[in-house]
Amino acid sequence: MSQYDVVICGGGVIGGSVAYALSRNKDLKIALVDYKNPGNASRASAGGLWAMGESTGLGCGVILFKTLSKQLQEGADVSQAEGMKPHIMPKPFFDLAMMSNAMYPALNQELLEKHGVDMKFEKTGLKFVLFDQYDRIYAEHIASAVPDRQQHIRWLDRDTLLSEEPNISREAIGAMEFDTDHQINPYRLNDAYVEAARQNGVDLYLNTKVTGIERQGNRVTAVQTSRGKLDCGMIVNAGGSWAEQISLWATGMQMPVFPVKGQVLVSEKLPKILNGCITTSDCYIAQKDNGEILIGSTTEERGYDTSTDLTLLKQLAQGAMKSIPQLRDMNIKRCWAGLRPGSPDELPILGPMPGIEGYMNACGHFRTGMLTSAITGKLLNELVRGEPTSVDITPFLYDRFLNESGDMVGEYHLEASL
Ligand SMILES: Cc1cc2nc3c(=O)[nH]c(=O)nc-3n(C[C@H](O)[C@H](O)[C@H](O)COP(=O)(O)OP(=O)(O)OC[C@H]3O[C@@H](n4cnc5c(N)ncnc54)[C@H](O)[C@@H]3O)c2cc1C
Repeated sequence: MSQYDVVICGGGVIGGSVAYALSRNKDLKIALVDYKNPGNASRASAGGLWAMGESTGLGCGVILFKTLSKQLQEGADVSQAEGMKPHIMPKPFFDLAMMSNAMYPALNQELLEKHGVDMKFEKTGLKFVLFDQYDRIYAEHIASAVPDRQQHIRWLDRDTLLSEEPNISREAIGAMEFDTDHQINPYRLNDAYVEAARQNGVDLYLNTKVTGIERQGNRVTAVQTSRGKLDCGMIVNAGGSWAEQISLWATGMQMPVFPVKGQVLVSEKLPKILNGCITTSDCYIAQKDNGEILIGSTTEERGYDTSTDLTLLKQLAQGAMKSIPQLRDMNIKRCWAGLRPGSPDELPILGPMPGIEGYMNACGHFRTGMLTSAITGKLLNELVRGEPTSVDITPFLYDRFLNESGDMVGEYHLEASL
């Protein structure tokens, strides 16, 4: 039997970041327990650090928005332009995303220099490539929704776009670019956090399942695992799409975190054909550090299903070929589906549960967990130590899902967020 100050349940990019942030001072005894369930989001991710993009309805946001608005508008009498209005995330999330984004250059350097691990951080920018007047309306809505961030928006006419990205289709009419938004390699980021945490003394229980959680009164006291019991002073729930089970064991309370499937395809390694990340109203496209072209991604609520289907993958591929005609000749190397840990309002769920001691949430990061992992680690380190947090976490507390009687009222799907 082992005794820990903190046991982190879940070793995706969120659990990894929390383990790394907590272990920096080397003053706590920490365990990280992870079993890679099929659909683990961190290994499925595209690796975009698209802070402005994802906060304003680009990147995966544009695909989510199109999926949901299509569902909601079937039969509804709204003009097409109105239906194309982007989905701007609330200010607290925007600020959180931008703060996290700003941490990556130093984090990258620290992980590389102190721990010898490379997340392949690459400054790319994110271009929303415009093909018609509806794309332009969508882009103009976005730009007008962030008046205080105009310095990060660059409008490219057709000639400038084609001079910067010569492989983009001649059909494009221009682009809107966010110069803040970059990329990492998601596998490398996850591995970097976990390896750096290990070097700082965190005990890794990999290929190990959390099978139960013990409580005495209202205090969590131990985590049961497939490799034995770990006594502890506190647990962190970083269970991704499986966070509700951990919450039920630890607190008896429901947690409105649910899987949102994303399908992705990846080409064989190609010579450099993209200088930056691009997004369109059909898909996003990123060339990763090894030359592979990643094309993503669907947004589907299908429970824990991780199958891929040709119809949707074909739609993504067609969107990519429309943007970069030479992709018609590419070979697809791999396709997969991962499960984003969705929350009803798309905001992460951070911090304590009412009435429970020795428990912290770090879940519900939906489509931006890569981006927000850095700030999540920092905030959880402050919360676990009982320090004031560097961001007001009120908008991210579980309490937002409770009514006046203390009953959970969060929905288990995304339509509520529109
Ligand atoms: C297709 C796709 C594309 C994406 N693209 C981006 C992007 O470009 N940028 C971005 O910022 N985000 C992106 N995301 C979102 C991002 O991947 C997630 O928000 C992030 O990975 C969530 O991390 P996590 O650690 O919470 O969850 P996960 O990575 O799922 O990790 C949770 C871990 O806990 C484990 N676990 C659960 N229960 C138990 C248990 N009982 N015992 C042991 N282990 C357990 C799971 O198996 C898993 O390994 C994308 C996601 C998908 C699916």
